[in-house]
Amino acid sequence: MVQKFKGGNAVFTQPTTPIKCGGAPQKIMYLADDHWAKTGVKKDTNVIFATPGSVIFGVPDFAKTLTKVLQRKNIHFKPFYAISKIDVVNKEVHFTNSKPDENNCVVNEGNGLSERTEGDSAYVLPFDLLHLAPPQSAPDFIKNSPLSNGTPGGWIDVDINTLQHNKYPNVFAVGDAAALPTAKTGAAIRKQAPVVAGNVVAMLNSNKITDAQYEGYSSCPLVTGYGKMVLAEFKYNNVRDSDPFLSKFVDTTKENYSMWILKKFGLPYLYWNRMMKGKM
Ligand SMILES: Cc1cc2nc3c(=O)[nH]c(=O)nc-3n(C[C@H](O)[C@H](O)[C@H](O)COP(=O)(O)OP(=O)(O)OC[C@H]3O[C@@H](n4cnc5c(N)ncnc54)[C@H](O)[C@@H]3O)c2cc1C
Repeated sequence: MVQKFKGGNAVFTQPTTPIKCGGAPQKIMYLADDHWAKTGVKKDTNVIFATPGSVIFGVPDFAKTLTKVLQRKNIHFKPFYAISKIDVVNKEVHFTNSKPDENNCVVNEGNGLSERTEGDSAYVLPFDLLHLAPPQSAPDFIKNSPLSNGTPGGWIDVDINTLQHNKYPNVFAVGDAAALPTAKTGAAIRKQAPVVAGNVVAMLNSNKITDAQYEGYSSCPLVTGYGKMVLAEFKYNNVRDSDPFLSKFVDTTKENYSMWILKKFGLPYLYWNRMMKGKM
């Protein structure tokens, strides 16, 4: 799809639900953009990032860097854009304004994107390439069970720090299906797993849980182009939580070649040899 693209509007989107690795839609956009710059397609292309959110990233330190990346790459950033319909016949994607009161000064017509406004708070963008991260929820067997928190997402209703179910004390959850207000990533699970493992053992032995707390750690290795990465690490409430050891050597709020090397070579090694074997 990216390699065959010949130019026009390349629209990358973010859904209104939490998704696996919230940063993934923008990572592929940065990589595609770099590829098109290399192959000469970029000069005939409008790259557009449409999100129902207000900012490119929730954690301010990383948002600052990523905003500069958008500007450098000349990417059209469209906040408050929530997808409502995809018209595949006419190759148009429809959006409603996720916060109509906050975006009423932006003019979305007559621009180089051939965008048009419908009514007070709907926009239509023609696309030549559309990248869609679909809305996501817990699997049906969880959503339709008493374990669910009863929201449309149907996530498992656990205490956000102990990961113990709020109604069933002998149930714990880790991973994407848990109702945790942080990014759904493998990195998050790495920090959740020891809390749950300790609590399960303690429950079996003494019917009590431990004092261990999961504080919402998650991480998003945002590849911003060939040889560049921003390692976003954070915890609940969008508080930056960068690794103190790494931070001695690298400003991880910035794009770094060293972090790209970590992503390309270090993280796969750590994943297969350390995390999967329960060693970190
Ligand atoms: C494009 C992309 C990029 C990502 N990048 C990163 C990254 O850089 N770093 C990072 O840390 N994380 C990243 N993630 C997120 C990471 O992959 C997930 O957070 C992680 O895999 C979640 O693990 P999980 O075990 O909770 O869920 P899953 O990996 O989704 O596992 C759930 C399993 O349950 C199975 N299942 C579902 N229903 C049933 C059923 N009825 N019966 C039996 N089995 C069932 C599914 O088939 C699946 O195998 C990324 C995800 C995506 C999609």
